[in-house]
Amino acid sequence: CGIVGYIGKRDVAPLLLEGLQRLEYRGYDSAGIAIQSRSSGLKTAKAQGRVRELESRIPKRFAGTTGIAHTRWATHGAPNDANAHPHLDGEGKVAVVHNGIIDNAAELRAKLAADGVTLASDTDTEVLAHLVARAGADGADTLEAAVREALRHIEGTYGIAVLHADFPDRIVVARNGSPVVLGIGEHEMFVASDVAALVSHTRQVVTLDDGEMATIKADDYRTYTTEGSRTSTSPETVEWAA
Ligand code: GLU
Repeated sequence: CGIVGYIGKRDVAPLLLEGLQRLEYRGYDSAGIAIQSRSSGLKTAKAQGRVRELESRIPKRFAGTTGIAHTRWATHGAPNDANAHPHLDGEGKVAVVHNGIIDNAAELRAKLAADGVTLASDTDTEVLAHLVARAGADGADTLEAAVREALRHIEGTYGIAVLHADFPDRIVVARNGSPVVLGIGEHEMFVASDVAALVSHTRQVVTLDDGEMATIKADDYRTYTTEGSRTSTSPETVEWAA
């Protein structure tokens, strides 16, 4: 339903919670957040219910300057804590938030389970985290290549944002039928499913097309197709009545 992500210098959890609150008007049943913590890889917190409930579950030491967050409107799997996004691979190295519906999720879940993967949720989304992790293990040498490889297996709609503990300097995002916008700041970048989540920080926005992906880092971004060829995009200034 709603996606917000940030990479920069500021403490990320309050920024992402604020972004989620700005998306609350769209409706949702649960919420969650994953951050790259400086000391120990990815950390997540999730809660069924309101963003305020999620906020109350965030542990004291939840410091980091890169993260992704989500408000969920369940399509596959009951609205509960386990099914809230972000979803992780088995090792907790990959975190994915997803808007949309993966049509072949049942088939992908069955294949993963047959390969010995333990699924931690009932969602369609979780397969993406496992597929990204496995693409990396199979030799994809960049996060971009791993996400691209994972998406080759997906039928359906998605707006996604992906964190990987081994690539802490970036967030990789992709769009197919579910909106993704980048917010270009000064030494910081935002991503969201809706400009409402980022206009309080920047008015410089890049809207992805279907079939397009992007890598955001604190100081730059690049866009490319799901086949890997670069696309040229320049930021537009959004008008927004506060
Ligand atoms: N299909 C996903 C799920 O049920 C994402 C739903 C959404 O767009 O929030 O978890």
